Amino acid sequence: MSIEGKLIIGLSDSSKGTKTFQSYNPATGEKLPTKFHVATPEELDLAAQKAQAAFQVYRMMSGSDKAVFLDKIAEEIEAIGDPLVEIATAETGLPAARIQGERGRTTGQLRLFAQLLRDGSWVNARIETAIPDRQPIPKVDLRMMHRPVGPVTVFGASNFPLAFSVAGGDTASALAAGCSVIVKAHSAHPGTSELVGKAIQRAAAATRMPDGVFSLLHGSGTEVGAALVQHPVMRAVGFTGSFKGGMALYHLAVNRPVPIPVYAEMGSTNPVFVLPKIMAEKGAAIAQQFMASVTLGVGQFCTNPGMMIINKAEDHKDFVADLTKEFKQSKGGVMLTQGIQDAFKQGVERHLEKASVSVIAEGGAGEGFTAVKSVLFGTNSQALADNPELAEEIFGPASVLVEAQSKDELLRVAANLEGHLTATVHGTPEELVEHSDLLALLEQKVGRLIINGFPTGVEVCHAMMHGGPFPASSDPRSTSVGTAAIYRFTRPVSYQNFPEANLPDELKTSNPLGIWRLLNGEFRK
Ligand code: NAP
Repeated sequence: MSIEGKLIIGLSDSSKGTKTFQSYNPATGEKLPTKFHVATPEELDLAAQKAQAAFQVYRMMSGSDKAVFLDKIAEEIEAIGDPLVEIATAETGLPAARIQGERGRTTGQLRLFAQLLRDGSWVNARIETAIPDRQPIPKVDLRMMHRPVGPVTVFGASNFPLAFSVAGGDTASALAAGCSVIVKAHSAHPGTSELVGKAIQRAAAATRMPDGVFSLLHGSGTEVGAALVQHPVMRAVGFTGSFKGGMALYHLAVNRPVPIPVYAEMGSTNPVFVLPKIMAEKGAAIAQQFMASVTLGVGQFCTNPGMMIINKAEDHKDFVADLTKEFKQSKGGVMLTQGIQDAFKQGVERHLEKASVSVIAEGGAGEGFTAVKSVLFGTNSQALADNPELAEEIFGPASVLVEAQSKDELLRVAANLEGHLTATVHGTPEELVEHSDLLALLEQKVGRLIINGFPTGVEVCHAMMHGGPFPASSDPRSTSVGTAAIYRFTRPVSYQNFPEANLPDELKTSNPLGIWRLLNGEFRK
């Protein structure tokens, strides 16, 4: 399966741009052969106009037709086979097993959205029937449901070349919502993006989707992404990446003549609190699992636990010794890009410059062009209060152990936290009851609270919230993982006094789709 370096504009390919770029293998530093064409302004506009035209058709298609499209995308991605694993490992330095697992997650989430569409109840239909003789004024007939917002721009993430990229969570949820999608491929894995983009293009053709329901544009630098966010037809943006990139796109989006929402997931330190009794009971196991969570995938997960907070207790010295042993045994690895490696090294340097921060342990040096080693820093809660930047994410296998002197100090650390994706508390059942105040504080800071576990590993399901208060994400009300992500790309519409024939099927009195609806305040099928 050859990689051509072209753009995908609906059902056609294009390579009019003279500017090209190449990806490289982060394990070896070698450039990969394909030259990818950067989208020209004309090509970008063509993709946008097609997306707008396709939206007018696609938005009116039934849930079951859209489900057939999503299932077909999953099938086409699987049909690529080994070439997809080969190019993704070459472009990211991630091992083949990780890419295979991520492929399963990607096709699994497409199929989960297809199921959601077949069930149909996700539209959150609410019906209030008229009461013409109500006094003092009659009540009108009002019916409400979620409808798609319009064409959506999706930015592929560097750290999930499949599951948060071209056919990843944002694309799957936007297509499920009924939106057309233009993906700006991440410049670190354009070959992987092309193979997946071609799979979506084949699926669109095979299931007779409108031309332009999906496009894939390449660009290296900010121009293509910025122009997409500013294009007048765009109605929402999904992004996973750096704080700087996410905020730049957010500001562009809200300063448009017609502002649009940006769902940017930008970074999180995911604090882990370990209470004294559980530390005494299970300290060695917690230390081992914590190290595994920090170093998983060379720490390149948005849910990586970048901070652990302990309440100094009698046994804490043993626990620190266990952590030291674990981190010393950890192995380094290659990072996704040289830019990410540089950012990691700079983050480590910034911590080392602080007199109140020590290095508790470092892991073994990894091998490869962008290799780094893991590091566990130590500090105390007063130093954290004086230097709040110590709580900022260092994207990679680094974490800070914060020692608090008392429960009050532990609570103060929690109260001073900014927004994160997750927070974790390890405690015995009695300790968790005694620390319900800690849990109540943390609930205000994060999107997901975890008891006696670790934040890495994000289940794709109906009850997942993957997002959090700023600066973890630009909008704390929505998730980027799981079926609730569909509501990023919808808006509620009310239909007043509509005749049965003009209503969408979801709102017809006869309920032809047999979906769950809130009928005069009661959930009914
Ligand atoms: P990034 O630099 O933010 O890039 C993400 C995507 O946005 C890329 O497609 C990039 O284009 C585009 N982009 C970035 N800034 C832009 C701007 N001002 N205007 C238009 N487009 C823009 O993220 P990254 O390269 O994946 O990683 C860099 C850093 O992001 C890491 O060190 C880490 O701190 C953070 N990160 C966080 C997460 C997370 O899960 N929250 C995931 C990955 C990375 P190009 O492809 O053309 O560069």
